[in-house]
Amino acid sequence: MTHDPHVADDARYETMDYRRCGRWGLRLPRISLGLWQNFGGHHPLDRQREIILAAFDMGITHYDLANNYGPPPGSAETNFGGIFARDLARYRDEIVVSTKAGYYMHPGPYGDWGSRKYLLSSLDASLARMGLDYVDVFYHHRPDPDTPIEESMMALDQAVRSGKALYAGISNYGPEATVEAARILRELGTPLLIHQFKYSMYERTAEDGLLDALDQVGAGSIVFSPLAQGMLTDRYLAGIPEGSRITHSQFLHERQVTETYLERTRALNRIAAGRGQSLAQLALQWVLRGGRVTSALVGASSVDQLRTNVAALNVPELTAQEIAAIDPHAVHGTHYA
Ligand code: NDP
Repeated sequence: MTHDPHVADDARYETMDYRRCGRWGLRLPRISLGLWQNFGGHHPLDRQREIILAAFDMGITHYDLANNYGPPPGSAETNFGGIFARDLARYRDEIVVSTKAGYYMHPGPYGDWGSRKYLLSSLDASLARMGLDYVDVFYHHRPDPDTPIEESMMALDQAVRSGKALYAGISNYGPEATVEAARILRELGTPLLIHQFKYSMYERTAEDGLLDALDQVGAGSIVFSPLAQGMLTDRYLAGIPEGSRITHSQFLHERQVTETYLERTRALNRIAAGRGQSLAQLALQWVLRGGRVTSALVGASSVDQLRTNVAALNVPELTAQEIAAIDPHAVHGTHYA
């Protein structure tokens, strides 16, 4: 990186593919960058900056955040805001920033779940941390069983009407709740742009109705943890590397590296090698196969990882035969402890 502030690569739009979110006009890169892990208070800021700017240079126009990303909660937004102000502010109109609220953020009755009180105050706090006037997408992060869905959707509608968000999204909603959310939002006059959910060769719940529901309501789909947090790469095939997510995250554990996991992952790794690619690339191509998923939301702890992941877009698509050969090894729940 030679310029400070950064000067973006002129070739950044030449190779990335962009897809519309369902039937809506907003297009997202097929690979987006998420800041859940690796961008909090415990990770070096210069590495964060390198990854974020390299992403933009590769045509990744979409950064995904949430109020609670860190650790500590809020620190990913604060760090991103600092890098954004220094290097990316002048490219604001070329960038899609999303944030969310719905998981625990602060003590007391207004710092968790799905009330209008929590969602709207959290959006203000996210904007303040990132130093932005608006986010492009504001998500309700998870359904709240104790708050009427109308209340959460009215808060998203309000966020859009106030100009603090351009679009509304939901995350981790099941198929029926998704259809209901889309209906309520449509009646309020704010469309459901997109749903963010977990999907990978080892996490296939979305195939049981959610992808169909999204087709039905015409919303986009962005999938998180498409690499199963690194478990659908070769990262853990020869032990637990120092500094890997298993060594520092509360969301990934050594006990998940079972014999069954290793067996299936080695088989998938061989299929990838047969195609002359890495397992990470195969895993990304797999979630993007057939065009039902708008964007795969990856995390990365280095620029090299991100480059490898983006290169997955430049290899021939999986054939029906290859998909069938992958299927016996792509078993839902493989990486569960
Ligand atoms: P991934 O499945 O892409 O996992 C990322 C991890 O995989 C990296 O930290 C790295 O591990 C490893 N990795 C990535 N690329 C490679 C590679 N080429 N070779 C080897 N290892 C690699 O996604 P995440 O779980 O990070 O989730 C992505 C984003 O999705 C989040 O940042 C967030 O924005 C969103 N998300 C949303 C949720 C929601 O509830 N809506 C929940 C979770 C995530 P290592 O660090 O060990 O190098």
